[in-house]
Amino acid sequence: MNTPRLALCPVDPQWIPPDDKRLDQFLQSIELSGKALPQPLQFLPGQKFLDLIAFMGCSPDIKLEPGDDERPFCLIHVQDQAKSVECHFGEHTHSPRCPKCRSPVKDWLDSIHRWMEGDATSLWECSTCHWQAAPWDFNWRQSAGFGRCFIEISNIFPKEALPQAHLLDTLQAYYGIKWLYFYQH
Ligand SMILES: [Zn+2]
Repeated sequence: MNTPRLALCPVDPQWIPPDDKRLDQFLQSIELSGKALPQPLQFLPGQKFLDLIAFMGCSPDIKLEPGDDERPFCLIHVQDQAKSVECHFGEHTHSPRCPKCRSPVKDWLDSIHRWMEGDATSLWECSTCHWQAAPWDFNWRQSAGFGRCFIEISNIFPKEALPQAHLLDTLQAYYGIKWLYFYQH
């Protein structure tokens, strides 16, 4: 089973941060992330992690650092330089629905693999109403996301936690682009 994740990405899938505004450095400066791990672009949660990510429920059983037991902990993985748009999804991603007629795309997994192996720019056509749109314009119900740039926080199940508005606002103010979030599970 893949690790469940909460992920954030910019609303424009083609967007990547400018060279002088690196995402990993910004996330450390606002203390969403803290100490860098030996693996590239992976970080422990920072001092403000719990101010920027809201956990649901009264006593979330979250672990912020590796410990003696095998229990998984939250770590932050930054990706900001993919060459082309990637679709990040999980085993339980919902069938995307047509933005026009809401019909589900039944063979979406094959379609998305073909799309990513191609040039990742072609439009999808709804088999019911023949509406054409970019795959990210279909309704994935926050169970997949598209981009060249992602912030992934591991070991968070869908709806278990969500980014505070303050975090989304801070990212938008610094980068001048709106950010979305979704769950990979
Ligand atoms: Zn349709």
